[in-house]
Amino acid sequence: MDRRPFGNAALDVAVIGQGTWNIEKDGRAAAVAALRRGLDLGMTHIDTAEMYGDGAAEKLVAEAIAGRRDDVFLVSKVLPERASRTGTIAACERSLTRLKTDHLECYLLHWPGEHPLEDTVAAFEQLRRDGKIRSWGVSNFDVAELEQVWKLAGARLACNQVLYHLEQRAIEHAVIPWCDQHGVAVVAYSPFGSGAFPGPRTKGGGVLAAIAEAHRATPRQVALAFIVQSRALFTIPKAGRIEHVEENAGAAGVRLTAAEIARLERTLPRGRRPRELPTL
Ligand code: NAP
Repeated sequence: MDRRPFGNAALDVAVIGQGTWNIEKDGRAAAVAALRRGLDLGMTHIDTAEMYGDGAAEKLVAEAIAGRRDDVFLVSKVLPERASRTGTIAACERSLTRLKTDHLECYLLHWPGEHPLEDTVAAFEQLRRDGKIRSWGVSNFDVAELEQVWKLAGARLACNQVLYHLEQRAIEHAVIPWCDQHGVAVVAYSPFGSGAFPGPRTKGGGVLAAIAEAHRATPRQVALAFIVQSRALFTIPKAGRIEHVEENAGAAGVRLTAAEIARLERTLPRGRRPRELPTL
């Protein structure tokens, strides 16, 4: 699995990781086995959140990473309504308890909310000084909001986790350029459209299938390769089934040509910049 520096952090992180939204619905044993198989295959960036299954996903992650904590780049998120100065610290401590660990590699504000960003940032910095998180970032932030964080904390901002897949490329307009310029990692969530992947009878699905065939790969492997090769992004597909995890890890071996990337971009054009950042 390829790795690259995570924004301004000195750490190299796997470009394809694992999401955990709804993973508790896959059943405990299947979910834990899938995550562990992903770790075996180098998908060591695990993304979770206090919101997922109201803490149930974090508890499953705890089981999956038991005995191999040092291999994992562990990320969780605080809900915006809890992201006051004291609320953020308390939420992080509850996440650490559920995750059975004493630190997170990165802690995110799940989306912009009503608490002043100064307070959330102050809490993140407190957690970092106390060794409870190694870094922190945001999620679902557009450029104006990123600017606000940058004014408060500059290069302490490690990443922005945002919606991105072949049929939703709005972040290419301004978010990716801003993050590249400021050395902030971009983590693409829902790389398969969260269950709405282009079918074989669609134009996009047809092109994905043709490129996949040329690489003896699958359309989903091509979709993941597009995300991490066309731009310097990270991505976190969620898979509750071992065969899906193995397929997703296999994307690391697919090397797309510039012509194939251009063909995908032409077939599934990004469109105009929307007024609001698309989110799920
Ligand atoms: P996704 O990763 O785009 O798609 C997940 C769906 O694709 C699941 O139904 C999964 O099925 C299926 N799948 C995975 N690999 C497959 C394969 N090789 N073949 C066929 N089907 C496959 O959707 P997502 O869960 O929305 O996004 C990924 C992660 O991003 C989340 O889990 C979460 O960690 C994060 N996220 C963050 C935010 C945010 O606001 N920050 C929002 C959404 C998501 P199985 O599970 O049955 O394998």
